[in-house]
Amino acid sequence: MNKLNEIFYQFLPEFKVNKIAKYGSGHINDTYMVTIDDSETTFIMQRVNHQIFPNVPELMNNIFGVTNHLKTKFEEMEGKDPNVNSLTFINTLDGEKYHQDEEGNYWRVMETITPARSYDKVETEQQAFQAGVGIGEFQALLSDFDGSSLYEIIPNFHNMETRLATFREIVKKDVVGRVRLAQEQIQFVENRAEEMQTLVRLGKEGKLPIRVTHNDTKINNVLLDENDEVLCVIDLDTVMPGFVLYDFGDAIRTSTNTGDEDDANLDNVEMDIKLFTAYTKGFLSKTASSLTPIEIEYLPLSARIMTFIIGLRFITDYLDGDNYFKTHHEHHNLQRAKAQFKLVSSMERQFEEMQRVVQEEVTVNC
Ligand code: ADP
Ligand code: MG
Ligand code: MG
Repeated sequence: MNKLNEIFYQFLPEFKVNKIAKYGSGHINDTYMVTIDDSETTFIMQRVNHQIFPNVPELMNNIFGVTNHLKTKFEEMEGKDPNVNSLTFINTLDGEKYHQDEEGNYWRVMETITPARSYDKVETEQQAFQAGVGIGEFQALLSDFDGSSLYEIIPNFHNMETRLATFREIVKKDVVGRVRLAQEQIQFVENRAEEMQTLVRLGKEGKLPIRVTHNDTKINNVLLDENDEVLCVIDLDTVMPGFVLYDFGDAIRTSTNTGDEDDANLDNVEMDIKLFTAYTKGFLSKTASSLTPIEIEYLPLSARIMTFIIGLRFITDYLDGDNYFKTHHEHHNLQRAKAQFKLVSSMERQFEEMQRVVQEEVTVNC
């Protein structure tokens, strides 16, 4: 029997497989759609990337904890369906949350959310608004979930202090002789290093609550329906304890850029304030009452910080000889850093407007 079919039957032997085909445009896991014979039924089957996530058993425990919590909430809410608004993972015949094959790969099966659309880029204010509603609701419904019970999937993922320390060490070593090619970017980092550590500092001072964070709040991880209304937040691999500002900031970085993440033409890269406004409206409509005043105050800055940190990681990897991010040409990581730093500058220029939008939405929702 075909290997993929065999894996699927570890979960659901009562269904006869018609076909299993590659699906979606995720960059991390291998995702397949499983179609069942003589019916409309499909399932999503994934091989989890265990290079990036070495502890898959703990990762799956996190996901089951979070989805069970969400399901209990959605059950109590009118107009919600726990099996559409939250992911439903299926246990193996042995009652396990995943199946490990002979090669050591980890597999999982979940129900398909349907009829769902998954966009790779935000095109309209409606999409940005609904993405904000989706992530905001995810945060709000998990605000009473004990974040400290979650396993920390990637320790120090957003820790600016350690990221800056690594960056400085790599600049000093200059192992591939690229420091001279990145003078402008190195200066850009150093000019902002102090302010960009604001979240770490607030965290140390105990001023930011530890909550459940998603950590990959891109638009293609929020499934929308045919009217572009939110159905479900997916891709829960990086769910771990953290600050809500990480999720908001990274969503703004990915949802409001008029260019591409690695755009070679920097003129294309700007933060679209209309998309920022739409996302913020959606997000705060669900979270304004559960966020603390300090969290609200730092929403606009979090967008600059999360954009800066990814730029910092790109430039660090460039100077280190491209060990982490897959590159498609020689100076790809430099190009990516330039694009992200351009986006940071665009946010800096529009910062007062961003603050005004947040204040206005807080007033509307409280
Ligand atoms: P990755 O970490 O590789 O991005 P995802 O879990 O986001 O993995 O899955 C990749 C893509 O597969 C998603 O962007 C989405 O289009 C699709 N997908 C994943 N899970 C489901 C699901 N339960 N229902 C419908 N589509 C899904
Ligand atoms: Mg994804
Ligand atoms: Mg992912």
